[in-house]
Amino acid sequence: MDAADLHLIMAPTTGKWQDFQGGHTARINQDECSECDLCRDLCRWDAISENYQIDPIECEGCGVCFYFCPEEAIDFPLKTCGEWFISDTRFGPMVHARLGIAEENSGKLVTLVRQEAKKLAEEKNLSLILTDGPPGVGCPVIASIGGASAVLIVTEPTVSGKHDMLRVAQLAAHFKVPAMICVNKFDLNPAETRIIEDIAREKDLTALGRIPFDPIFTKAMVQGQTIFEYDTNSETGGAVKQIWGKINKTLGVNNFRHRQIVESLSG
Ligand code: SF4
Ligand code: SF4
Repeated sequence: MDAADLHLIMAPTTGKWQDFQGGHTARINQDECSECDLCRDLCRWDAISENYQIDPIECEGCGVCFYFCPEEAIDFPLKTCGEWFISDTRFGPMVHARLGIAEENSGKLVTLVRQEAKKLAEEKNLSLILTDGPPGVGCPVIASIGGASAVLIVTEPTVSGKHDMLRVAQLAAHFKVPAMICVNKFDLNPAETRIIEDIAREKDLTALGRIPFDPIFTKAMVQGQTIFEYDTNSETGGAVKQIWGKINKTLGVNNFRHRQIVESLSG
C-alpha cells in the first residue's frame, strides 16, 4: 500500500473507484480567530504559524486545537487520503488502493481493501482471497494478517530477512494465524538459508521451499508478465509451483483456478 506495485503485473482495468477518507486536518477560520495563541501553545507539532495558518504537512490531525479553541474558530474536516478500486484482471477481480503522497492511515486503508475484497468474494461466490501483504512489520502488515486463514512469509537469507521473518511470525502467532515460510534468493547464501529453515522448524513454522535468485523475475516484470507467462517451463517457476501446491495441500483447498480474488496491499 505504501509503495504498491502488483498492479504493474496485474494490469487492472478499473470498474469502480472511490475516495478513501481517513483522518482529519485542522483549518483556522481567520474571521473568527481572536489571535489568543492558545492553539499555537497546545500544538505539539508546531504546525500553526505566527499568522495562524496551519501547515497541512506538519498537522498530525490530533484535534487538540479544534477542541480547545475558545472561539470555535477551527474547522476539523475529514480529509481524502487516497482512493480504492475494484478492477478486473486476467486472473480475476482485484481490490486495490492508492494512498496519497505523505498520507497516513495505511492500516485503515488495508482494512478497507480487505473488507471490500471479502464482500466481493461473497457476492461472486469466490472461495479464495490472496492478499499481497506489505513488507516489514508495521501497521499495514498487522491490518493484513488479522482474520487470514494462513500467512506465507517470503523471506531472504540475510540478517534483516531473518529478523523480519521472526517478527511477522510473532504477529501471526498473536492473531492465531498459521504461518509458513519460503526462502527467496536462497542460493545467494545457502548457509543462512539453512539457519532460517532451522529456526522456522524450532518455531513451528512450516518451511515450504526455496526459490533461487533468477533474473527471470525482472525480465518478466519488464514485460508486465508473471514468470509463468514469460516462460511456461522455467526451473524457478517450477519451484514456485511446488510451494503453491504445498500451500493448497496445507490449507486443504483445491481448484482455485478462476475462483480467486486478489487484494493488493503493497509492493
Ligand atoms: S485558539 Fe482559536 S482563537 Fe485562539 S489563536 Fe487559535 S484559532 Fe485563534
Ligand atoms: S490538529 Fe493537532 S497537529 Fe494539527 S494543528 Fe491542531 S493541534 Fe496541531
